[in-house]
Amino acid sequence: MRAHVDVDAVVATTTALVGVDTQNPPGRERDLIPLCRDLLGDFDARFEEVEPAPGRISLLATIGAGDGCRPTLLVNGHLDVVPVDRAGWTRDPFVAEVVDGRLYGRGTADMKGGIAAAVEALHALFRAGREPSCDIVFHLVADEEVGGALGSGTLVDQGRVHADACLVPEPTGLALCVAERGMMKATVTVHGRPAHGSQPRNGISAVEKAAKVVLALHAADFGGPDHPLLGRPTCNVGMISGGNGHNIVAPRCQLVIDRRVLPGATCEATEAEVRRLIDAIDDPELSYDLESQVFGEASELDTDHPFVARMQAALTTTLGRPAPVIGMVFATDARFMRNQAGIPAIVCGPGEIAQAHTNDEWVAVDQLVDAAAAYAELFSTFGS
Ligand SMILES: [Zn+2]
Repeated sequence: MRAHVDVDAVVATTTALVGVDTQNPPGRERDLIPLCRDLLGDFDARFEEVEPAPGRISLLATIGAGDGCRPTLLVNGHLDVVPVDRAGWTRDPFVAEVVDGRLYGRGTADMKGGIAAAVEALHALFRAGREPSCDIVFHLVADEEVGGALGSGTLVDQGRVHADACLVPEPTGLALCVAERGMMKATVTVHGRPAHGSQPRNGISAVEKAAKVVLALHAADFGGPDHPLLGRPTCNVGMISGGNGHNIVAPRCQLVIDRRVLPGATCEATEAEVRRLIDAIDDPELSYDLESQVFGEASELDTDHPFVARMQAALTTTLGRPAPVIGMVFATDARFMRNQAGIPAIVCGPGEIAQAHTNDEWVAVDQLVDAAAAYAELFSTFGS
């Protein structure tokens, strides 16, 4: 199948997608919709648009009869990219170019390259004289980079996501990812009692109490067995701010924490674990509030699921070896498919995880081609 992939075409498609600025915030995915319609129009796709907020469009495209007679494979790719810090780039992030086999530009790895590879897979398949064995539905969604509420989250809430399996072409270096950790961002506010700085024992220092909380939480062991692909849950105390003068006993100190959790952990349980560690500090003067701002649950697909074998077969045919089966320490829209929509989902795409969200982001052209070839194999075998 690799011989039927047009290298120039997959590079050109990625370049065109990168050329439309969809930094999120603000997103502006609407600007990319005409190009996406063009790319999929070659395959007689039927389109729908979902726009839960102005400009924040997700494009739904069905290729095939869509009558349920054949299995349906969903390809979910996000159109938004993370913001660019131009000072850190040595090139124009929105004018992609190939240098030494690497295609540079914002979104080349995460994940416009993956979307381009999926589109090229369809061309390659038809060029090879074969056809998809299933209906293929593309959900080209908004808002993934800040949690997906206005993209995949909305589609799931509206009951628009129906498929027998889902491929998410996010960058994994073409490893086969079946599990991802969840994340909680939370703020711990420690309360003190102010006093004159010359007499610290007359007050309660929120800074001193917060120091105890930092030691209790940072890199804490939350117990439980290691997950075979995701390891252990973690906690990072990423930010601290407090006090309002060197000569005042601090009345208040805030910590912002990043907790990563395993499949099955709820928001409530994750909060409770943090409270348990803080409450175990033996200090009657320690007073605090805990508030979570963001929670995305972990998710996983059983490695024995037939879709994993199907995807592995497509990768093995293309790469000449099986792909590693991995878990990722961060969350993607695959969690909506696995947890809310009940659809088996695999994340597997071109580009290295380490390239996502970096300056001078790039994807190897060879991986774009491998991805397109592997997706074409999957499209031709999924429904057979
Ligand atoms: Zn991504």
